[in-house]
Amino acid sequence: MRAARIFADLTLRVENVPDPAPGPGQALVRIHAAGVCGTDLHILDGMIKPDPYPMTLGHEAAGIVQAAAPETGLSPGDRVAVYNKLFCGTCEQCLTGRHNICDTEPGQLGFNMDGGDAEYVAVPARNLVPIPAAVDYATAAVLTCAGMTAVHATRLSGLRLGQTAVVNGIGGVGVLVVQAARQAGARVIAVADSEDKGRLAISHGASDVVLAGHTEDFGSLPDQVRELTGDRGADVFFELVGTTQSMTAGVRCLAKGGRFVATGYTDQPLSVHPIEFILSETSLISTVAATRQDLAHALQLAASGAMTVPVAGRVGLDGVVEALSALRKRAVLGRQIIELA
Ligand SMILES: [Zn+2]
Ligand SMILES: [Zn+2]
Repeated sequence: MRAARIFADLTLRVENVPDPAPGPGQALVRIHAAGVCGTDLHILDGMIKPDPYPMTLGHEAAGIVQAAAPETGLSPGDRVAVYNKLFCGTCEQCLTGRHNICDTEPGQLGFNMDGGDAEYVAVPARNLVPIPAAVDYATAAVLTCAGMTAVHATRLSGLRLGQTAVVNGIGGVGVLVVQAARQAGARVIAVADSEDKGRLAISHGASDVVLAGHTEDFGSLPDQVRELTGDRGADVFFELVGTTQSMTAGVRCLAKGGRFVATGYTDQPLSVHPIEFILSETSLISTVAATRQDLAHALQLAASGAMTVPVAGRVGLDGVVEALSALRKRAVLGRQIIELA
C-alpha cells in the first residue's frame, strides 16, 4: 500500500510499504479520508519524536472495515472513525472512561505508531467508532482529532448555559470549539488572526470577533474582552494558540471564578504570578485529546447538524507535503483533507 512516511531526518515521503496485518482483536480499515493537522507540524519539526522512525504520519482517519475477527462485532463494509489513542481498557483511568490518559499508554496512531495517512491501517477493534449515516468520511476524520478535542475541552471547562466563552485561535480545532461552546449554551467571543477566520467563526456561531495574531495585539485583549462583557470578563477562555503572550492575556480575560482551558501549545511557557489566579479564584484546566466517548458525541453532533467541519481543500496522498506547508503559513481556512478512496 502507499503511505506518507516521516523519516529520522524529518523528511516526509509517500512510499510503498507492506499492507498492515491485523493482530488478535484488531481490524483492518481501508482509509477514505484523513485530516491534515497542526500537530503533524510538531512531528515534522522533531518536537514530537516517533520511536521508531520511519513512521506513517496521520492521526485523523475514517474509512470502512476491510477485515475484522467475528468476535469484534464489526463486519467488512462498516463505516468507522478511528479513535487514535490506544488504551488498555483495564487501568483506573480507562475504567473511569478517561481513555485519553490511560495509565499504560499503549500508543497513539501517527505519534509513535503507524497512522492513517495511508491506504490501510490496523487498529484494535475497540478503537473504531461507527459513523452515523448522515456524516461523511471527511467530517468523521476531522472529528477524530479536532472535533472530539473540542467536545472534550468544552465538557471539562464546565461551561454552562448563559456563560461567556472566549475561543483564542480559529484554526481546525477552534472553529469546532466555537460550535461545541454554543451547544453548551454559551455566548462565544472568537479571537482570530485574520478577518477571514473571524468571519468563519461568526458563520459557525460566534457572536463577536476580536482580531489578534501578533504578540503585541494580545496586550489589549483583556480590555477588549471586558468591553464586550460589561466589564465582567469571560467565564471560560479556551487557549488554542499557546504563546506566552496569548496565555497571559487569556488569564487576564477571565471573570472571577473563571476557567482558563489549556489545549493548544507551542514551545513557550505559561508564565503568570499565582496571585493572578488566587485573588479571583480562577482556575487552570488542561485537556489532552479526548475520550472515545467524546468522539462518539462529536459524531452525533455532526449527524444532527450541530457541528460542521469547514473543509479547506482536498488533496490526494501525494499532496500531503504541500498541504502541511500551507498549514505552516497559516494560509488554511478550516481543515485540509487527504482523500484516499
Ligand atoms: Zn490532529
Ligand atoms: Zn488504560
